[in-house]
Amino acid sequence: MPGDAPRVRFAPSPTGYFHVGSARTALYNWLVARQSGGTFVLRIEDTDAERNREEWVDGIISAMHWLSMDPDEGPYRQSLRTDRYHQAIDALWEGGFLYACDCTHDGVDLRNKEAGILTPGYDNFCRDRDLPRGDGRALRFRTPDEGITTVDDVIRGRVDFPCSAMDDFVAVKANGAPLFVLANVVDDIDMAITHVIRGEDLLPTTPKGVLAWEALLSLGWMTDGSTGAGRQLAPGLPVFAHLPMLVNEQRKKLSKRRDPVAVESYRDKGYLPGAFVNYLGLLGWSPPGEDEIFTIGQMAEWFRLEDVNHSPAFFDVAKLTHMNGEYIRALPLGAFIEACQPWLTGDRAPWLVTNFDEAAFAKLAPLVQERVAILSEVPHMVDFIFLDEPNIDEDSWAKAIAGDEVAGTILADALATFSELTDRWSRDALHAATSAVGERVGRKLGKAQAPIRVAVTGRRVGPPLFEALEVLGPERTLARVRTALGRIGATAGGERPS
Ligand code: GLU
Repeated sequence: MPGDAPRVRFAPSPTGYFHVGSARTALYNWLVARQSGGTFVLRIEDTDAERNREEWVDGIISAMHWLSMDPDEGPYRQSLRTDRYHQAIDALWEGGFLYACDCTHDGVDLRNKEAGILTPGYDNFCRDRDLPRGDGRALRFRTPDEGITTVDDVIRGRVDFPCSAMDDFVAVKANGAPLFVLANVVDDIDMAITHVIRGEDLLPTTPKGVLAWEALLSLGWMTDGSTGAGRQLAPGLPVFAHLPMLVNEQRKKLSKRRDPVAVESYRDKGYLPGAFVNYLGLLGWSPPGEDEIFTIGQMAEWFRLEDVNHSPAFFDVAKLTHMNGEYIRALPLGAFIEACQPWLTGDRAPWLVTNFDEAAFAKLAPLVQERVAILSEVPHMVDFIFLDEPNIDEDSWAKAIAGDEVAGTILADALATFSELTDRWSRDALHAATSAVGERVGRKLGKAQAPIRVAVTGRRVGPPLFEALEVLGPERTLARVRTALGRIGATAGGERPS
């Protein structure tokens, strides 16, 4: 029956860039929906008008699309569902689950101090005062005094929260707006959510949600029927799964300020979506077998929520980058060239777009593909072709030219030797000529190439030199060697050692 298929949701609050931890949460929800014929709902929890921005919503939606995790339903927006929360608040008030409270933080703290209570918490001062609603009073949820609220979590097992340790929490702010826990539960019920899969930072609020959910059920609460869930009766409690947190190399929780956590930034640096989603999948789960490279489709086939690990998962950028390099190398050449386009012909190209030469790039592309881990490294590899002058990296210059006493001799010799090759300018001829230049100064080919590479390409690393020179052509190559010689004060066409 379609009504029995899982309905999962991803419910981000748009308060910043799309965090990798949120992307992992979205992915695991998406996987559960895909493997079971279920529905993946996107709900934007945008009730905090001060911290929410429309661009963050766009960021989430476009990054989910980039990762092939488009929702089946939604985006629903909490900011458009205020009336519904008020209906729930009215029902809970009528049912006696809420009471009005006019206490201030300071007032509660003072009373606790006077009573010798050291742990902060609400002292139930207003519980039986029967204050009316309104007049800037918050509404608190009356939690049971005894018993246990249990969260049955697929990943963590049974987690018990003794009710005696649970405060009568504020469910509705003094300005009448519902708090996260209430809006979240009303939505999950209306959207007939069967599995709540989210970060473990939300586990401590879960018992409050359970109490609110049970309260609404006990009131015969009906869904609003507006969300495609196709049911009227409020569903029973969902299955909970709280995903392990992500940590950095120091095993500290990933932080927005310290760590590179924005999915958008990985997209902008040229990580491939397939690689990124593959790596996200491994943050808390591993596939059967040894191979860690798999498609999102294979993941959907193999993934089981029960197999998710509860210990923190290390978000290892180096591993992600390495994996991305493998994905890049596995691309057919045409797809690689296509994927590079934003860095070659778009805003991100560091040269005049009219200088770009597709054929020249195509010649070097297979060599570049072997050498980059992320696509943003591509311009660096080939910019010497499309810039009028090479972008000289001063560190490379210092090491390979200024700090090498034979660099001038090598460059002068190369200038003379290469000048004789202009009508048979090829990789092989340049290779042989450079070997000869090296022999004349007692250098192996690799060492002899270094000053030439820096003079012509600006850097010590890049695609293989002779292919690069072949593509650049004799005129520009010789001019650059001459310029470098000028810079080090050596005489162009200097003596060739015998
Ligand atoms: N909006 C909450 C957050 O971004 C998540 C709520 C949930 O998944 O239940 O932290």
